Amino acid sequence: MPNRAGLRLMHVHAHPDDESSKGAASTARYVAEGAEVHVVTCTGGERGSVLNPRMDRPDVLENITEIRRAEMDAAREILGITQHWLGFVDSGWPEGDPKPPLPEGCFGLVPLDEAVERLVRLIRSVRPHVVTTYDERGGYPHPDHVRCHEVSVAAFEAAGDPERFPEAGPAWQPAKLYYHHTFNRPRTQALHDAVVAAGLESPYAERLESWTPEPEWDARITTRVECAAYFGVRDQALLAHATQIDPDGAWFAVPLEIAQEAWPTEDYELVVSHVPTTVPEDDLFAGIETPVA
Ligand SMILES: [Zn+2]
Repeated sequence: MPNRAGLRLMHVHAHPDDESSKGAASTARYVAEGAEVHVVTCTGGERGSVLNPRMDRPDVLENITEIRRAEMDAAREILGITQHWLGFVDSGWPEGDPKPPLPEGCFGLVPLDEAVERLVRLIRSVRPHVVTTYDERGGYPHPDHVRCHEVSVAAFEAAGDPERFPEAGPAWQPAKLYYHHTFNRPRTQALHDAVVAAGLESPYAERLESWTPEPEWDARITTRVECAAYFGVRDQALLAHATQIDPDGAWFAVPLEIAQEAWPTEDYELVVSHVPTTVPEDDLFAGIETPVA
């Protein structure tokens, strides 16, 4: 096992639970190898719906903010991460046609520089070598995910420039920026095929039918991090978000051993690198020298 002591990775996510559904197994692997992994959660998830029928109760809905904080605390312990709230309010998922305007004061409406400055301050204090976020589509088109992308990309660049936000601490330039590509179509197809081959019912049949292949999009993946041994940890972290995850739902419909064999990696796109590296890579820290203790 490589020794990652002294290396720091920062994932920037929109809501509590995103850290457990995207990149959680690679997180667990890097923590096991000695890296420090930080998760920044932009919003409190105050407007998330309750997605687990067992938790869809009035007492849960009334205390959703506190409950989601407690869920995040549990997931943090399971993953072995340090977690930071950026302190913005969930924009919610706009429902209706046409979509209603975003609620006043939410993350999606905060002036960009206000959010960027908060993230720059955190980057300069944590001093991560690698930062991850969502692609420009947000991974899925939730306004907070798209905003998370915009804020992260801007903060990655600004953190290293001493003239930007001079009040936010001494400049620190992270070496690499990645986008998550965990939920790519080839992976979904591979999981589907493996489940069907095992004689089980696939949770992905409908999804794949309506999902037009986008080979150019998938070709953006540069980096596949082997982390199958940590899929179980990822599942435990996901289950800690009890209001958001239905234990009988699609998340857990593919048996662990089948998933480990069919697609043993989490996948990323290297967007910026200030260190020499060649793609394809199998490691987010590739090209970064391990700091001398
Ligand atoms: Zn989210």
